[in-house]
Amino acid sequence: MSSPTLRAVAVYCGSSPGRDPAYRDAAERLGTLVARRGIRLVYGGGHVGLMGVVADAALAAGGDVLGVITEALAEREVQHRGLPALEVVPTMHGRKARMVAAADAVVVLPGGMGTLDELFEAATWTQLGIHQVPCGVLDVAGYYAPLRAWLDRAVAERFVPAHHRDVVQFADDPEALLDALAAWTPSGGDKWLDRTPPPPR
Ligand code: AMP
Repeated sequence: MSSPTLRAVAVYCGSSPGRDPAYRDAAERLGTLVARRGIRLVYGGGHVGLMGVVADAALAAGGDVLGVITEALAEREVQHRGLPALEVVPTMHGRKARMVAAADAVVVLPGGMGTLDELFEAATWTQLGIHQVPCGVLDVAGYYAPLRAWLDRAVAERFVPAHHRDVVQFADDPEALLDALAAWTPSGGDKWLDRTPPPPR
C-alpha cells in the first residue's frame, strides 16, 4: 500500500544497537520499507547504532536520506559519510526542530533517553498546536510496552487529554505503523483538560 500523505518521516532511534538483534532487524526493515514507499528518511545523521542501520538500509533500497547532525556530534556519533544530504546544525534544539520540520511524521525505534526526548518534544508540540506531526512508536519485542501502558495511565489519570492519545501511535509492524501515520488527522481539541485551578488544600 502506498502512503500518499507521507513524503518524509523523521526516524528517531538509539545511537546504540541495543542488546536484542531484533532491534537491528526492525531498523533494517523500516529503512527498506521507507525507501520502497518512496518516503524520504530524515534522521540524526550518525553511522552508529540503530541510526546507522536504518540509514544504510534506506540507501541500499535506493531511498532518499537527509541526515541532520550537530557540529559536536558529527565527531562523537561518527557521522555518516555516504548520505546524499547532510545538514550540520549548531545545537541539539536546532537539530530536533530541523528534523521535524523536514518530515510529515515521526517514527520511533528502540532507543535510550535521547530517543525519548525527541519523541516527546515532537508529541508535545503537536499537542500544543505548534506543529501537526503524528508520532509512531515501533514496539519491537515489547520494548515499548511499558511506555504504552504509561501513556494509557496518563490518559486515565487525566494528565493527557483522551483526544490527544493518538498523537502517539503504537504498532509492532512497520507497514501498519506507516499506514496509521498516513491516515492520522489532527484532533483539533484543546490541550487543557481542567482550566479551573485546584481548590486550596
Ligand atoms: P539515544 O537514544 O540516547 O541513543 O540517543 C538517540 C539520539 O538522540 C542521538 O542522536 C542523540 O544525539 C540524541 N540525543 C541525545 N540526547 C539528546 C537531547 N537532550 N536532545 C536531543 N537529542 C538528544
